[in-house]
Amino acid sequence: MGCIFCNIIEGKSKAEFVYHNDELVVIKDAFPRAPVHLLVISRKHIPTLLDVINDADVDLPGKMVTAAVKIANDVGLSEKGFRLVWNVRTHGGQTVNHIHLHLLGGRQMKWPPG
Ligand code: AMP
Ligand code: ZN
Repeated sequence: MGCIFCNIIEGKSKAEFVYHNDELVVIKDAFPRAPVHLLVISRKHIPTLLDVINDADVDLPGKMVTAAVKIANDVGLSEKGFRLVWNVRTHGGQTVNHIHLHLLGGRQMKWPPG
């Protein structure tokens, strides 16, 4: 079975894109947990944040954060704020093993997360 995010990036599965560049794409989460729930996804298949170990990839998480913050600002989340989430492996709650960053906003978030 293939990777759902690779399939989306390759156009084999549908998704609603909100941004893309050479290194990443941003799509709407199919099962949104907040009024705004976007996923910043690396074009390169890297399983988790723990796998960003090559020199070539080391700047990627920062670029993903920067893209998320820019988009948060563009969609009007900067005044009230938002949450960025990296789920990593089992205890982190990661269900898709292709590196991605959640951008959640549009409601009050709770702490601690479940
Ligand atoms: P995580 O649980 O951190 O691995 O996040 C994976 C996210 O991908 C979840 O929030 C899912 O709702 C979302 N997701 C799974 N399949 C799709 C899909 N086909 N299109 C868009 N989002 C998806
Ligand atoms: Zn993948």
